[in-house]
Amino acid sequence: MTTLADPVPGGRPGDVERAGALSDELSGRGVHGIVLAYVDTAGIARVKTIPTAKLASAAAWGVGMSPVFDTFLAGDSIVTTDVLGSPDGDLRLYPDLDLLVELSAQPGWAWAPVDRITQEGERHPACSRTFLRRTVLEAAEQHDVIFKASIEIEWAVAQPPGPEGEFVPAVSGPAYSAARQVELGDCAADLLAALARQGVEVDQFHPEYAAGQFELSVAALDPVAAADRSVLVRQTIRAVARRHGLAVSFAPAVLGQGVGNGGHVHLSAWREGVNLHAGGDRRHGMRPEAESFAAGILTHLPALTAVTAPSPASHLRLRPSQWAGVFTAWGRETREAGLRVVTGMAGHRAEAANLEVKPVDLAANPYLALGCLIAAGLHGLTSGARLPQEITGDPAHLGAQDAAARGVRRLPTSLAEAVEEFRTDEPLRAALGPVLADAVTAVRRGEVDAVAGLDDDQVAAAYRWKY
Ligand code: GLU
Ligand code: MG
Repeated sequence: MTTLADPVPGGRPGDVERAGALSDELSGRGVHGIVLAYVDTAGIARVKTIPTAKLASAAAWGVGMSPVFDTFLAGDSIVTTDVLGSPDGDLRLYPDLDLLVELSAQPGWAWAPVDRITQEGERHPACSRTFLRRTVLEAAEQHDVIFKASIEIEWAVAQPPGPEGEFVPAVSGPAYSAARQVELGDCAADLLAALARQGVEVDQFHPEYAAGQFELSVAALDPVAAADRSVLVRQTIRAVARRHGLAVSFAPAVLGQGVGNGGHVHLSAWREGVNLHAGGDRRHGMRPEAESFAAGILTHLPALTAVTAPSPASHLRLRPSQWAGVFTAWGRETREAGLRVVTGMAGHRAEAANLEVKPVDLAANPYLALGCLIAAGLHGLTSGARLPQEITGDPAHLGAQDAAARGVRRLPTSLAEAVEEFRTDEPLRAALGPVLADAVTAVRRGEVDAVAGLDDDQVAAAYRWKY
């Protein structure tokens, strides 16, 4: 389990001594610098780095960084809210030492996720990692549930882009093909080795559907660690590819048309060591709490897309019949539903059963995405919500009557529409708190303005190399 305690001025108990010992050990192994990483509201991983010798000082007093990044857009311009976006103020970045890892594909470097607190030692209300930690902690305290989560990663491998930023896939073999596996074989083997050395448990790796696309899935962890892992794995994929002279894009849509890159979230709720998604008497073995949790996510899905699919490019991916799950529908192993119930194999369900949320991509801040999904699920759990009738097949082909009977709605078709859904979703806003909720609204509106007048190909090009 990830440490759920907030950082404190002077350091969390024991952290300074531990950081001192760690920095000696890392220095002895030739690690010169430590990357301190967090993800901003727009979904960009932002970093500061410190020499390894400064780790103990960072554990005690943090490292300074402006709060302005909370209202940065993916393209680095800045919007404002009534409290964020000004040049004033400073925050302190505190590394989570439990998650510190030596970067295998970047010799000389280690990496750690950070929480951000104020110079007064208070929580920063726009720190997304703090938001997720608090959400997980409250779920345990108030509902006696804990979660396991993992985020799938899809990306395109390309030749390094020229000045026009064009996309030239680095491989040409068919989807899921042995040919494509061979084309990327050396690079992929290095990736698996780097992840293993970093202690990342990989479940699967395969060539995917779209041009140059691959996918990697990792084992489930507690939600904070799962979000951290998503950031670390992408840093590693990027670094390994670069060592092979290749570029990568995690953008939701690399091109204006066709299948995009998803970042599906797998999530399960557990109580007293029991998986609530298996062994119950509700549909497909769900226990009542799991059904209500799933129903909460389904109800809030239109508003959630403002958090889980936050880029204008997300809406190039979110099209029917591309396995991106663009309807408020659920079904067992239904890959076109927004919510896919995964039961796992007979005999393995108590460990494996979970929910997969499809309309999520890797432009999403993983801390915000997981925190909001959990908050939505808990809202359903508290009210004892029930799932509507399930679907089979592609909801795009359901007749109007069938769709209505199952509560099947198309998710927002633009970021502007998604923000409007989000703005009026009180439970989600309450979970985030006003500062973070306003930052989400302002940043999304900023992105909408940034692409005004662009066609689909231009939108894809604008975000292709940002994520
Ligand atoms: N690439 C698809 C997406 O955008 C997902 C394909 C799959 O189910 O793995 O979500
Ligand atoms: Mg996939």
